[in-house]
Order: sequence, then C-alpha cells, then structure tokens
Amino acid sequence: MKTKIPLAGVIAHPVAHSKSPRLHGGWLQEYGITGHYIPMDVHPDDLQGVLETLPKAGFVGVNVTLPHKEAALKLATTVTKRAKRIGAANTLTFRPEGGFDADCTDGEGFIENLRQTAPDWSAAAGPVAVYGAGGAARAVLDALLSAGAPEIRLCNRTRARAEALADIFGPTVQVIDWEKAGDVADGATTLVNTTSLGMQGQPPFDIALDGMHPGALATDLVYIPLETPFLTAARAAGAITVDGLGMLIHQAIPGFQKWFGTRPVVSDATRARMLEA
Ligand code: NAP
Repeated sequence: MKTKIPLAGVIAHPVAHSKSPRLHGGWLQEYGITGHYIPMDVHPDDLQGVLETLPKAGFVGVNVTLPHKEAALKLATTVTKRAKRIGAANTLTFRPEGGFDADCTDGEGFIENLRQTAPDWSAAAGPVAVYGAGGAARAVLDALLSAGAPEIRLCNRTRARAEALADIFGPTVQVIDWEKAGDVADGATTLVNTTSLGMQGQPPFDIALDGMHPGALATDLVYIPLETPFLTAARAAGAITVDGLGMLIHQAIPGFQKWFGTRPVVSDATRARMLEA
C-alpha cells in the first residue's frame, strides 16, 4: 500500500505575498521529498472550519500568519510554553486523533539566524537594545531572555506598548523613551531593530550608534531591502551585522522537520531562492 503524500501549507489573509511556499517548496525539491506546501487564503471567520477539515484531506500541519496568529493559539489542543509567552502561534501540527499542537518559532528563528551568521555572538555578552514593541518584538524579547540576555533596553515610539511587554517579561526589560533611542545604544553588545522603519517605502531607522560596544552585533528584522540604512550605519560604526532574511528562513525549520521528516540546512542557495523575483 502506498503511504499518503504529506501536505502542508500556509494560511493567511491575504496570502499572495507569502514567501513560505517558495521556501518549503524549494526544500522539498532540494531534498527530493514527495510532499506539497500550499498557500491558502482563509477568512478569519473560516479558520476553525478549515483547521478541522485539512487533516481529513491529508494535511500534516500548517503555518499560520496574519491575521490568524492569535486565533490559532486559542483553537489549539496544546500550546508550547514559548507560544504562550509570545501570545501567538505560527506552526500548527495536526494530531492523528484530531485537534492540533501550536508552537511559535519566530524567536527560535531570530536566534538561530544570529547563531549561524555570527557564531561568536552571545546574548549574554552585555546589554541588548531592542527598538520597537510590536508583535515581532515580543518573540525577539522572549528569545533573547531565553538565550541569557542580562539587560534589555526596550525603546518604542508608543511607550505604552513597550510597557505592556515589560510587564509580560519582567524587570530584565527596561523601557526607555523613544526620544532617547540614541542613548539606548550606549555600551550595547546587541542591537535589534524590530520596527518597520527602514523597510522599502518607510523612513530609515536613523539613530546615533557611536556609543555602542566595539564589535557589537546589529540586526534588523526588516529584510526588504536586505541591507537597511540601520545595518549600513551599524557596520560603519564597527558592528557585525546580520540581515532579517535569515530569521524568516530559520523560523520555518521546525515545521518543515516535523511535517516532512528532514531538518533543512540554511545555505546560500536557500537565501538566493528567497530573493528571486
Ligand atoms: P507591528 O506589530 O505593526 O509593529 C511595528 C513596530 O514598528 C512598532 O513598534 C511601531 O511603533 C514601529 N513603528 C512603525 N512606524 C514607525 C515610525 N514611523 N516611527 C517609529 N516607530 C515606528 O509589526 P511587527 O509584526 O512587529 O513587524 C515589525 C517589522 O518586523 C516589520 O518590518 C516586519 O516586516 C518585520 N518582521 C520580520 C520578520 C522576519 O522574519 N525577518 C518577522 C516578523 C516581522 P508603535 O508601537 O509606536 O506604532
């Protein structure tokens, strides 16, 4: 008897912009795996019904992204501790007996990208400056704390949003006013832009970086363009820089491994595929 061909995919609304089919599809081809990864545009009202139906059609799991990341968490049978802390799910694995397990791999993707690109980097080396306090920042804070960051300075245009995150993650996270964004860099060994500033069509993220620790690591979650003005300025000031494309790639690894049974390696070819027009 032939075994079933595993199916997975990404659920979003809209979904046309998603790079996940290209990423997973590329790995399926690269590793010669018989399986498919499909983009699905699902209205929020239909999410529950679709998640109940997909396993019956041969789906082993799905990624979920905007606007479903919080709703999926509520519908899950089990939720990992980190997904609970982050308050969102992006990787769902269907259970043979019905229901699904929910995980959030965004923070893991963030850290693994830094570890692969800058192997000598350590979150524990000194103060970390995090700019921005949106959905992505929550996963980044969780990952940095789990990786041993001793002090995180969280700086956001809307202070209340940063305070809400500091309440969740405790006193290691110190809220700093947006007007003091330059001071936040002083002595920092890691600097992270999680704002959407610097993205194509947005103003640059422009702060004073001369006070950062020599040889600090600077990374940007924005990956369009790959080289943001923040990364250019940080490199000119002596930082090691890591772009945001790797986070997008690395967050996909746990799902791919669970659903298709192979742990993919992030190579130059993986990155090149993601950058194809
Ligand atoms: P979000 O929840 O909408 O948060 C946006 C953040 O940007 C908030 O902190 C917001 O500050 C700040 N911001 C926006 N415009 C600003 C401005 N003009 N001046 C100062 N701050 C401004 O978005 P998100 O989901 O966290 O995503 C943030 C960025 O990360 C996006 O560019 C997204 O594409 C990128 N991202 C990348 C990855 C990856 O895998 N590389 C993963 C997730 C997200 P306020 O709170 O004051 O509005």
